[in-house]
Amino acid sequence: MNWRAEREELIATVREMNARGINQGSSGNASVRVDGGYLITPSGMAYDDLAPEDIVEMSFDGEVSGRRNPSSEWRFHHDLLESRADFGAVLHTHGKGVMTIACQRLELPPFHYMIAMAGGNTIRCADYATFGTQELSDNALKAMEERKACLLANHGLLVGEKNLERALALAVEVETLCETYWRILQIGTPILLSDAEMDAVKEQFSKGYGMPQGEDR
Ligand code: 13P
Ligand code: ZN
Repeated sequence: MNWRAEREELIATVREMNARGINQGSSGNASVRVDGGYLITPSGMAYDDLAPEDIVEMSFDGEVSGRRNPSSEWRFHHDLLESRADFGAVLHTHGKGVMTIACQRLELPPFHYMIAMAGGNTIRCADYATFGTQELSDNALKAMEERKACLLANHGLLVGEKNLERALALAVEVETLCETYWRILQIGTPILLSDAEMDAVKEQFSKGYGMPQGEDR
């Protein structure tokens, strides 16, 4: 299969990551699920130079097709898309906000109700491992349990969502939350929402609040 529309959407998404200021240069990467596997951005290429043929097609059996090398982080894309049926797309970014918090190896506590957008009362920070390794993928999958986002220690952000549009929206939101948390830490100790208050937020989200008509979170 050619997956032309999916290749184009993947390219548009990574360009938008940079345009929105949540990533820069050829850092970061993205993937989208297709039958039997996924499409992924090539390693180390400037997003403005990408053509649909530069996108690499990979199967869950380990087949690789395309004229470029897949992202060095294909392992966490592969492992997340294989193990998380709720994910149709995975994004990884190096934004200044997420890097600020991830370099302190902090998790985001429930200082703002939008933390619940990632599925829980915290957004965890995965233990450090070298980029591109299976160890990093294993650490990331653990931090993503019952979550759609996690920080990667001394590195950046990982998000998974139903589709690319929602993955990008979640990445923008977590970048904003990290920048806000950094500011809050400058002026004092954040006042955290209780479990009951976060449960009430999740209840509102489950009714579809803040989502386009007819879509659930
Ligand atoms: P790739 O260009 O190989 O996708 O690597 C970028 C990156 O962010 C590594 O963690
Ligand atoms: Zn990275």
